[in-house]
Amino acid sequence: MNKKLVIVGGVAGGATAAARARRLSEDIQIIMIERGPDIAFANCGLPYHVGGKICQRDALLVQTKEGMQERFNLDIRTEQEVLAIDRDAKTVRVRELETGREYDESYDALLLSPGAAPVRPPIGGVDHPAVFTLRNMVDMDRIKEAVDAGAKRAVVVGGGFIGLEMAENLRRREVEVDLVELLPQVMPPLDPEVAERLHVELRAHGVRLHLEDAAEQFKPAGDGLTVQLRSGATIDTDLVILAVGVRPDTKLAADAGLNLNQRGAIVVDDHMCTNDPAIYAVGDAIQVADPVLGGETMIPLAGPANRQARIAADNILGRDSTYRGTQGTSVVGLFGVTAGSTGASEKTLRQREIPFKKIYVHRGQHAGYYPGAEMIMLKLLFTPDDGRVLGAQVVGSAGVDKRIDVIAMAIQARMTVHDLEEVELAYAPQYGSAKDAVNIAGFVAANALNGDEKFIYAEELPPNAPETANWTLLDVRSPLEFETGHIPGALNIPLPELRTRWKELPAGKPVASYCGVGQRAYYANRILRTHGIDCTNIAGGLMTYSLVHPSEK
Ligand code: FAD
Repeated sequence: MNKKLVIVGGVAGGATAAARARRLSEDIQIIMIERGPDIAFANCGLPYHVGGKICQRDALLVQTKEGMQERFNLDIRTEQEVLAIDRDAKTVRVRELETGREYDESYDALLLSPGAAPVRPPIGGVDHPAVFTLRNMVDMDRIKEAVDAGAKRAVVVGGGFIGLEMAENLRRREVEVDLVELLPQVMPPLDPEVAERLHVELRAHGVRLHLEDAAEQFKPAGDGLTVQLRSGATIDTDLVILAVGVRPDTKLAADAGLNLNQRGAIVVDDHMCTNDPAIYAVGDAIQVADPVLGGETMIPLAGPANRQARIAADNILGRDSTYRGTQGTSVVGLFGVTAGSTGASEKTLRQREIPFKKIYVHRGQHAGYYPGAEMIMLKLLFTPDDGRVLGAQVVGSAGVDKRIDVIAMAIQARMTVHDLEEVELAYAPQYGSAKDAVNIAGFVAANALNGDEKFIYAEELPPNAPETANWTLLDVRSPLEFETGHIPGALNIPLPELRTRWKELPAGKPVASYCGVGQRAYYANRILRTHGIDCTNIAGGLMTYSLVHPSEK
């Protein structure tokens, strides 16, 4: 049994490991060293204090230093930085940041949870004091101070989790927001048509989106800054939030000769152990196994960091615990809309040339007859042979987290779409439907696998493209719905009239039918097939089509 555990980093991974280690042993000496002034704070809540949603700053301190020391009998040293590891001597070199004093601390086991640092690209003016990044309470205080002092305009660079959460919270404070994103979409884990739903929401809440653009320079201008974009546009602003990603904070590990991957993440085994048997590592700083597609990946999320920390502490204290990998289950809220994803995205599957099938479901989050039903969009990705679930994305105003979590469990249990058909979920009208969106996704996916329905995808039917001429586009909604908007060139035969009017369809041409979400088109195709007509369903109906081909980009 180890006698002395030294932990580097005192927030998500570090604090969790310390508490777990103490629960497993009353004898072990535990020293937790943290560079910053705070430990165990809620990184994930930082944007919401800037926005005023979390009013009390102290609410973010999940544990205070004194409270945690007392409860778990820990030796916690804040505002001290571990500078170097001497693996032969089994010591770390520590500097007290206030005094500059340095000392060596010995260890039997060392656990690294140094996290990841915000990327600061080397562009002109990036060191201007009004260009902020957000990693900890100190960063948060600085941003909040700037907003409290009257900042009226902000440029958020980067449309990932932190960028979006900051955009929302700055709007909450009535700050004008321009959001600049290099990719054609925000939220890189999502596929573009799902992210489009967030673009709509951002614009509706006054965020000016600059997609496929980049900040190239920050120039001082009066009391603020001018942001020069690659497109040539310039934006005058009072502050910039730089949220273009994070990089593992692993210089310490690299200098100590621990194995890192090409992107600088610490390589660990499934016991969270590095190539040095006395050194463990967890959290945003490590490389993890991808349990869905195989291979390795890097996913900086709080849940994985906490679970890894528990597993590392188990192994340090002599238990045999293994980590299964990180499938990337995540969720983000934006102006009342929630977007969640788990497992592989279509983009990743395409990049890695992995065969897959996909379906879309648009359905109320609870029974339509009960007041307040809101539509959710669910995209499901699965293997084309046995239907194993590979990934899912869900977006909507309510009930998103429930569906994404259910499918996350299904992925972890290596379930198929047939299992989703059978999954039994809680139902009362205010919570769900007797056939939940997850069941429906299973039904639709099973139809796609067994040939009961064929799908064509909106991206295969670009507006006004010659390919469209090869198909008869059939809109089976009511004339009223058709008048409010339809795919150009579509023929309207409402579903109830199809049994008598199907002969109006041009002979010899395949039919691509659609309705609002795909359900009536499925019924229509069942009818058409009995007449020997080659027909497919435009997956996800007009709702998905309009996200794939938005009128405004
Ligand atoms: P951290 O929690 O960052 O802790 C690392 C600590 O190590 C730091 O405090 C650092 O000062 C210290 N350290 C580093 N090097 C040294 C050294 N040499 N000596 C001493 N101390 C050192 N994840 C989610 O799943 N959901 C969310 O909603 C979410 N929202 C987030 C919002 C924000 C604004 C941020 C910044 C992150 C968010 N995350 C979210 C990510 C989540 O916070 C991280 O995945 C998690 O904190 C990682 O834990 P960690 O222990 O690896 O690193």
